[in-house]
Amino acid sequence: MRYRLNPSSLQGRLTLTYLVLTLLGLGGLIGWTGLRLQGAALEQAELNLMREATLIANALREPLEGWYEGERHEGRPIEILIRSYAIRPEERVTLLDAGFQVLVSSDRRVPPGTLQSTPELFGAREGRKFRHVRQESWDLVERLFVASPVTDEEGRLMGFVQLSIPTTSIYAQIRQTWIGLFFAGGVMLGITALVSFWLARQISRPLENLTKTSEQIASGSLHERVDPEGAEELRRLAVVFNRMADKIQEMLMRQKAFALHAAHELRTPLTSLRLRLEMLQTHARGDAELTARYLSQMEQDVDHLQRLIQNLLVLSALEEGDYPPRVRLDLSPLLYTLVDELSPLALRASLKLHVDIPAHLPPVEVNADQMRTVVRNLVDNAIKYTPAGGRITLSARVHEEKEVHITVADTGVGIPEEALPHIFERFYRVDKRAARRQGGAGLGLALVREIVRAHGGHVEVYSRPGEGSTFTVRLPIAKGS
Ligand code: ADP
Repeated sequence: MRYRLNPSSLQGRLTLTYLVLTLLGLGGLIGWTGLRLQGAALEQAELNLMREATLIANALREPLEGWYEGERHEGRPIEILIRSYAIRPEERVTLLDAGFQVLVSSDRRVPPGTLQSTPELFGAREGRKFRHVRQESWDLVERLFVASPVTDEEGRLMGFVQLSIPTTSIYAQIRQTWIGLFFAGGVMLGITALVSFWLARQISRPLENLTKTSEQIASGSLHERVDPEGAEELRRLAVVFNRMADKIQEMLMRQKAFALHAAHELRTPLTSLRLRLEMLQTHARGDAELTARYLSQMEQDVDHLQRLIQNLLVLSALEEGDYPPRVRLDLSPLLYTLVDELSPLALRASLKLHVDIPAHLPPVEVNADQMRTVVRNLVDNAIKYTPAGGRITLSARVHEEKEVHITVADTGVGIPEEALPHIFERFYRVDKRAARRQGGAGLGLALVREIVRAHGGHVEVYSRPGEGSTFTVRLPIAKGS
């Protein structure tokens, strides 16, 4: 996979941040470790040289005593001895007397008799360990010098052993250490780069997918969903996103279905109107009785259409949250007026309308027209779905001083259990043909539910097939009453 890191992208920023942080941390660590190791290497070299100088000084005690006691002229053995002590390449061993004058040196360039007054010798005379790094004017390399006193049995100072090695050998070792450290640092930085790139990708990829899916959904592919992946928060985001997409899709499908249903419901009365119009133009021409009959049927069709359209308009207004004005109202008088209006219908259907409403009810905040629609739809249904001889009860009461309950109960056909969850849905009818014959479009209860909901209330149904149904509308009592 070819991949270019865009520094302004989330992934780019994360990767660069990780890298910079690692670089700083690693740089600090390498610097600190390197300096410590460098110090330790110098110290070790000095210690080794010091130890060697002390050993040589001890070994030289007797030869030097002999040499002082008259073998000075022979000189040779001690020179050989000194030269043999210079084991490492370029190591220089010099023997000096107590006055810092060179007696013998392994390095021919340091002739006997030369006076050396150098810091490490003063240090050795004062009994301190002392090292000194310098480059002598005639020498080609810089050297580390140490010195150790040579004493006789009684501890009297007889001279000094001066030891030196070129610093280049120490520095070469230190350089090796630094190279090793930088190499290890480089490898670690490389690994960090890979890991941080991968980590950043773990975060940025789910977000990229989310963006891509959003774009696809926006351009109409409603079924697209994202795969939950990456960190938990990102997976949760994906799940919530998918749920939201589900909701949107469902809503759009519902709207589509609603439009289809509405068109279908409008088609029936329109077809019937058209047929009757044709009949009027052909068969009923000149026949006054037939004309009157068709006209009356056409009036019913138009009524039906008008009701349907009115219901659809109210439903969509409620859906938009467009509520008509409300007032505080005692529902009793409104209910009694409705009873007057509906009694003849019940009577015509050979049903008894029983009324149980108190003279006064606590006020509720309602739109009176909409409340009338609610009660009228419920009583209409009760009349429609109760066979002749049955009984309908309209009652109202106060519940726990918080709600007003309006109940419409009938002894009709009832509603099958499996249909109960659906009866408040738009266009839902238990028995399509029977309902249509009754002139229902399945919008009555949907309207009831939307209106009651808009008033902050609930509507409930209890029904058993063959025994009847009870619908209860619960409305909150207006505050401050
Ligand atoms: P419709 O216009 O068909 O009456 P509704 O929305 O008012 O539509 O009612 C939906 C369905 O609920 C009806 O088709 C009917 O089957 C059932 N229903 C409503 N009220 C009653 C009732 N009182 N008794 C029996 N069934 C009822």
